[in-house]
Amino acid sequence: MSDAPGRYPTLTLRARRVLTPDVELETTDIAIVEGRIASVAAARPAGRVVDLGDRIVVPGFVDLHVHGGGGAQVNAGSPAEVAAAVRTIAAAHVRHGTTALVPTTVSDSRERLVTAVRGIAAARDDADGPTVLGAHLEGPWLSPQHAGAQDPSALRPPSLGEFADLQAAAPGTVRMITLAPELRGALDVVRAAAAAGIVVSVGHTDADVDTARAAADAGATHATHLFNAMPPLHHRAPGAAGAVLTDSRVTVEVVADGHHVHPAVLALVAAAAPGRFVAVTDAMAATGLPAGDYHLGNRAVRVAGGRVTLLDAPDTLAGSVLTMDAAVRTLVGAGVPLAAAVAAATRTPADAIGACAKGRIAAGTDADLVVLEPDLTIAAVLTRGRVAHDPAGLFRGETGQTG
Ligand SMILES: [Zn+2]
Repeated sequence: MSDAPGRYPTLTLRARRVLTPDVELETTDIAIVEGRIASVAAARPAGRVVDLGDRIVVPGFVDLHVHGGGGAQVNAGSPAEVAAAVRTIAAAHVRHGTTALVPTTVSDSRERLVTAVRGIAAARDDADGPTVLGAHLEGPWLSPQHAGAQDPSALRPPSLGEFADLQAAAPGTVRMITLAPELRGALDVVRAAAAAGIVVSVGHTDADVDTARAAADAGATHATHLFNAMPPLHHRAPGAAGAVLTDSRVTVEVVADGHHVHPAVLALVAAAAPGRFVAVTDAMAATGLPAGDYHLGNRAVRVAGGRVTLLDAPDTLAGSVLTMDAAVRTLVGAGVPLAAAVAAATRTPADAIGACAKGRIAAGTDADLVVLEPDLTIAAVLTRGRVAHDPAGLFRGETGQTG
């Protein structure tokens, strides 16, 4: 690293409540040295001590499914445009506690998806701000019956050749692929992707329970926005939703905005899949901007009342304007215990993609931290030990503060 001295301040957060999130600690010092957590213990400070009073410290949020924010979307025309968009998206979401993200494409031409992977790889090299963990390709290998807001003309059958092109675009960058396992050739791609260490997620699918289980047997380990863009859970035809909810190998993500999934069902998922449920935003470009008309990929959408819908099909949800802090509050409002809600936004998604230095507060992990007010709004956000957002003014004058 070529960082100048002082860019990584030595600092201690002293808090009465720390959710690691496996355990809740009382009156703890989180000592931060060189961007990492040096120790988590009572009365073991390093450097300047910032007393957070009755605020709550949790790990930085990890968003596995995010298309946009701050007016930008991942899909774009050149690698430089994609990289710039990813930086804008990260800057919009870090204000809401996201310290690591997997920028997510929507279905597009092969050429533009290769471009997106290259651009995400370029954005990944940034040392500042939230960590870009790689690319999530949501499509193009999705069910036409459950396209949701994806462009139907961009959907196509899974192809090992296209998979190889996307891998070659920037080796090691593709981290997740959402696909419909019932499509011809899908299981071959599942096996190839899983063998390459990519998380394969079942989504935008018409699969029945047996086909979804076969996908997990082939190596799929995640499910994309459970209940959305798949048949509903029926007691005689449980479908992909029933398959993944009952499969301990699979983590299930929910768009926890209270619109995509009813709060009662959010609580049901939390109870049915403890330690396996993940909150995502599925956020689009307008996240952080006022209500109005925007684009998701090349589709015109309208943002009103916290919902995003297709302009030409107002009953179809088209991504969200959700942020991770709001997701945690929605889960808690739905009756999910705070520690479980925090785990769904931190450790569980980090572990789901093997990012074990993220999503937890423990010695040796990255100092990605969120300080919450008692009402669960954001008081401060640190990315690798640097103050990225400080609306409460807790770190005024701290070295490394970026705004
Ligand atoms: Zn999405």
